[in-house]
Amino acid sequence: MSNGKMKAAMLYGVKDLRVEDIESPQIDKGEILVEIKAATSCGTDLKIFQRGYVKKIIELPTAFGHEWAGDVVEVGNNVTWPRKGMRIRAGNSAPCLRCKMCQNGKYNLCEDMLWLWGAYAEYIRVPARTILVNAQEIPLHINYEEAAMVEPLACVMYGAEKANIKLGDSVAIIGAGPIGLLHLLIAKKRGAEKVIISDLLDERLEFAQDLGADEIINAKNEDTIERIRQLTKGYGVNVVIEAIGFPSTWEQALKMVSKGGTVLEFGGCPPDTNIVMSTELLHYGDVTVMGSFHATPIHFKRAMNLVASGGLNVKPLVTRRMPLDKIQEAFEILTTSKSDIKIAIIP
Ligand SMILES: [Zn+2]
Ligand SMILES: [Zn+2]
Repeated sequence: MSNGKMKAAMLYGVKDLRVEDIESPQIDKGEILVEIKAATSCGTDLKIFQRGYVKKIIELPTAFGHEWAGDVVEVGNNVTWPRKGMRIRAGNSAPCLRCKMCQNGKYNLCEDMLWLWGAYAEYIRVPARTILVNAQEIPLHINYEEAAMVEPLACVMYGAEKANIKLGDSVAIIGAGPIGLLHLLIAKKRGAEKVIISDLLDERLEFAQDLGADEIINAKNEDTIERIRQLTKGYGVNVVIEAIGFPSTWEQALKMVSKGGTVLEFGGCPPDTNIVMSTELLHYGDVTVMGSFHATPIHFKRAMNLVASGGLNVKPLVTRRMPLDKIQEAFEILTTSKSDIKIAIIP
């Protein structure tokens, strides 16, 4: 395949995703070529597809997609691991380990992060740094889709760790999309006693209930803040997680937290937006408000181990499978669908 062509999805602009025949990537010393077996759709991809603000990060047209898993089909010189034929996944980020942020252990904030795009394609070239810091072999009993979902899971695990969800905590999650649902699974795993989740779609809320949500709130029909106060005897919850990414829901999250509690603003908002926060809430309420961005290689590894050990079942999140040729349609479905969570693209 090194001299051949491959199919790959390229994003040209807002809602303009095309599958093209392009040159297969050539690998260099220290690199590998992976045949992608499954790539899962992600809220970030959907936002980029809908808002097109990808311009701030990368030049258009761009290779698209970042959650993938596949087989190593070519190995460059000097590569001692992985071997040809191995099933692997890799994260979409590889920190440099050298910059100020990395030296402080803030690998997710690396100032020279190597990002990897192009999961919606037949093949992907994996750079040496990514192989070194953020790639794992997939155990045989784990399928490619589960392995691809290690990426968002790692981000959620990092956020939940920062928010320090503890045994017996009450947790409110705003948004029952793929990220909100992963937060639900992780909050339960960390021992949360009561997880309340809100969304605008009944279909998604029922899905959340099936995954273990204790209370569901349709924010279209009910006053979410009022309902959370009712469910917690007026106190609010120990931890609130915003998993949508709008300033209005970021602000709403602040009104659901108990005194002494924590608000994790997880969903990325549109650029140049702000929120208003009560100084009383922060001071007299002793509330902690935090953001979290992406994840570190350690979290990717832990996420892989959690899935591999059977400790967390992410399989139900893939609600549809579609071939690469239908990717434009897949993203249109995700834009309008009420019941689809994640679509696995199979090249
Ligand atoms: Zn993702
Ligand atoms: Zn760095």
